[in-house]
Amino acid sequence: MRVVLLGAPGAGKGTQCKRIVDRYGLLHLSSGDILRKERTAATELGRKAQSYMDSGELVPDQLIVEMMTKAMRNDPDAGYILDGFPRTVNQAVELDKALEGNCEDIDAILNLEIDDKLVIERMSGRRSCPKCGAVYHIKNLRPKVDDKCDIDGTTLVQRPDDNSDVVSNRLKAYHQQTEPVAAYFRNNRTVYDIDASKDPDKVSVLIFEKLDALAKS
Ligand code: ADP
Ligand code: AMP
Repeated sequence: MRVVLLGAPGAGKGTQCKRIVDRYGLLHLSSGDILRKERTAATELGRKAQSYMDSGELVPDQLIVEMMTKAMRNDPDAGYILDGFPRTVNQAVELDKALEGNCEDIDAILNLEIDDKLVIERMSGRRSCPKCGAVYHIKNLRPKVDDKCDIDGTTLVQRPDDNSDVVSNRLKAYHQQTEPVAAYFRNNRTVYDIDASKDPDKVSVLIFEKLDALAKS
């Protein structure tokens, strides 16, 4: 199964991807996570992406498309879920070309719908584990021990791009450049809109309803 998960930054894509991966055994290909790893490893790509990420702008399409199509080819037989990609119509067109070249298609496109106010609240309270990448929220999804990762006990950190100035740029980029991606896919595919304002378990149920039906067919 190949799945695309669309939605604003902070909508809950990463949180739901972890659950989807556990249930369906897919690879989680998150463009944001891959970019953060490239930065930590101080690669050329990481260095090129740095200023865009820090200011909340999108990294140029060419870099992203190369990075994501490479990740998709890593394990060609595995199903995957794309998280945070495509984020522009141009990226979606390039994704379609890459899929066509491999005689493949996306089986499901899910669009997490949520308003900006909630997204801001989610991003400002987001904390993540620098070691394993697990994501928490100071009110909504608290770790068992304050500030410590449930999995490895590492002290949780706040993402630097979750501060309020950068968040407003990221939301602007989402509305201007990423929202049209859902419209692009709606031209010739079904896009399942999911109410992402509900609590995490309820959002998972809505997603699993769609994906279970596909997995059976
Ligand atoms: P994204 O990957 O879309 O940027 P995340 O999955 O990192 O979003 O979620 C953003 C923040 O919101 C995190 O702190 C997460 O714990 C929290 N969160 C995720 N889903 C929900 C939800 N359904 N309700 C409340 N908080 C949520
Ligand atoms: P995320 O973790 O998905 O919130 O992404 C963090 C940052 O990485 C974004 O604000 C962008 O600067 C960059 N980024 C992630 N995915 C993409 C993408 N598909 N296209 C362009 N930039 C991206």
